[in-house]
Amino acid sequence: MLGFSKSPWIIHYDASSCNGCDIETLACLTPLYDVERFGVVNTGNPKHADIFLVTGAVNLQSRDVICNIYHQLPEPKVVVAVGACACSGGIFSECYNIAGGVDSVIPVDVYIPGCAARPEAIIDGVVKALGVLEEKHRSMAAIANSIDKTILERAVQADVPEILALQKIAYQSEAEIYGDDSLPALQQSLADMQADFDQMIFLKAVVNGKIIAAVRGRVMGTTGDISRLVVHPYFRGRGLGPRLLVEIERAMPPEVTRFEARTGHKSKRNLESYARHGYTVFKTEQFTPTIQWIFVEKQRK
Ligand code: SF4
Repeated sequence: MLGFSKSPWIIHYDASSCNGCDIETLACLTPLYDVERFGVVNTGNPKHADIFLVTGAVNLQSRDVICNIYHQLPEPKVVVAVGACACSGGIFSECYNIAGGVDSVIPVDVYIPGCAARPEAIIDGVVKALGVLEEKHRSMAAIANSIDKTILERAVQADVPEILALQKIAYQSEAEIYGDDSLPALQQSLADMQADFDQMIFLKAVVNGKIIAAVRGRVMGTTGDISRLVVHPYFRGRGLGPRLLVEIERAMPPEVTRFEARTGHKSKRNLESYARHGYTVFKTEQFTPTIQWIFVEKQRK
């Protein structure tokens, strides 16, 4: 944790600012404030960042970019809204193209008011963000230490937003493997998953009240179609995936005599896991120029 608090890596995104808050943010790096001497690093790569600092209100163009950057930051992460526009939409809040403040698309941890926000306030906000980051690290570590107390159970409708957020985090590593984020799991909307919920069996793995893994299955005649087996990246390699796979097979009704699943051709870990559980490949299908689906099956014993 010391490394995070002594040298926070920050990524800055201008959502649609008038540039006032951007200039103040950059002023923090100039010799007068020189936050780099405290170890603060302004990175351009979300995968290296701990803190996501956003200036300006969210408009229809920046909304998707904000979500994209946010999902690429590794967990735990902290979001800081800098200036009145990022906090609430500010003077632009009633414009036809403004969706609102940053919290209209992603959760915000620290709000820095001001128009423009002063560099001293921004530095103070980053220090607060470090406190939040430390707290999130502690809670993740506590969850990891209680992993043996994980409960596997049927999800309820109210779990859908949390499962969708988990799915988007978990599938980032797949998008990286293929250099392609058009995977259906990353594109799924809340309404779409809510519709799925009425027709599928959703299982979740819960520890300390947090959903850290999930899977779903659909009954199609005598076939049980298993999909979206997701484990939070922080909790991988602890046997949650195999446990969920066994549980979803058990949860299928008696008329199901065969299980089917699919994964991408480069997802070696998934393919090995299915093979270990007795699944064999029965067909392949080109999905995009970069992704080929491998379909696996297994007879119920
Ligand atoms: S808060 Fe003020 S200075 Fe900052 S982006 Fe909005 S209008 Fe510009």
